Amino acid sequence: MNATVILGMLCVHLMCFCVMFLLISTRLNDRKMGTDVFAAGHLLLGLAYLLQLLGDGGVASVVNHTLTFCSPVAYMLGAIRFFDRPVPVWRPLLTVAGLYTLAQVLVQATLGTEARHALLAASCAALFFGMSVILLYGVRTFARDLRVEMILFAVLIGGICALNAAKFMMILQGGLQALDMNSRFQIAFYIYMSFLGTVLPPAAVWLVLSRLVEQLRVLSVKDPLTGLLNRRGLTEGLAAHFRSRVAGSAHLLIVDIDHFKQINDDHGHQMGDAVLCRVADALKGTARQGDLACRLGGEEFVVIALNTDRGGALYLAERMREAVASSQVSGNDPREPVRCTVTIGVSLGFANAEALDEVLRQADAALYRGKASGRNRVEWALAV
Ligand code: GH3
Ligand code: MG
Ligand code: MG
Repeated sequence: MNATVILGMLCVHLMCFCVMFLLISTRLNDRKMGTDVFAAGHLLLGLAYLLQLLGDGGVASVVNHTLTFCSPVAYMLGAIRFFDRPVPVWRPLLTVAGLYTLAQVLVQATLGTEARHALLAASCAALFFGMSVILLYGVRTFARDLRVEMILFAVLIGGICALNAAKFMMILQGGLQALDMNSRFQIAFYIYMSFLGTVLPPAAVWLVLSRLVEQLRVLSVKDPLTGLLNRRGLTEGLAAHFRSRVAGSAHLLIVDIDHFKQINDDHGHQMGDAVLCRVADALKGTARQGDLACRLGGEEFVVIALNTDRGGALYLAERMREAVASSQVSGNDPREPVRCTVTIGVSLGFANAEALDEVLRQADAALYRGKASGRNRVEWALAV
């Protein structure tokens, strides 16, 4: 087997993965996580290898080298997008393509074909070296949650960097003979490229999938309007707390906005939503780190004060009531901000997640008494 056969297989591989990334990207509407750019990277490299297979020479060779150099640039831009940095793609790619073509023409005219091939090997080696360094930098900064994956990518890309550096040296020493497709070096080079072409795309899909699953998990436990936990998030958070061996007792606070319907009626539903968010911020800002804050539905919130005794829960509830009463939202008329108050019902202490329904009933009954006694107050559950 010579390198041409491997190149042909690699070409088919790249085109298949290009289609796969394209299909994935069409499913990811507004947040494609770089998958469309990865598809472009595969297309560029696939086309470059196709040109090489069809007979490399003259203009086709210049185009082939430009495509070969642009494909890792595309992968890099795709990776930046994967990490949620909104980087432009097509203009930088076209600029790189234009500049690299110009560089090739100049090198070809002044130093000849050999130097143009050496330029590609050296440029690719430098580019892959830069990519490996960025990936390793990511382990400590932007990709701390993907430590193992980043190191693996850096090592694999470091390999292709080393092979390109070796190719550059061989061209300098032995001229274009170094590129003979029957040479052991070229066979090794394309076997390694094939290996990367087989391993990297599924690894990228794995990263996209794990990010999607994480997004779904977050969506399933959060209230989209306020960003607080929803009922499912509350249940899960509470279960996780009581699974810990050192978990102390907890108190549940139901927080209900007073006369909220009136706010909607007077200022509109949108302003009502803004008030809900403001109240959510006040509750979150007052709760201690680790306490669970949830929007139960409508204008009702639940805060669970963890590892707290009765005195601590009372103190927290009072501070929350005051925090909401002193906050405001700019109204339709800037001179008249919208304010609101809350009534809070506090449950008895509890020490297991199964007690949730019972303590909700206790706090709800206390809340009802608070509403009946004039609102904007904290009321306690009665001990049975
Ligand atoms: P009380 O002091 O007795 O609690 O009176 P209230 O007006 O706050 O309570 P009521 O249950 O009568 O009204 C709650 C209102 O909350 C009615 C509903 O239209 C409104 N609401 C529920 N969910 C939302 C929401 O997501 N956004 C907005 N803007 N309003 C909501
Ligand atoms: Mg209410
Ligand atoms: Mg209510």
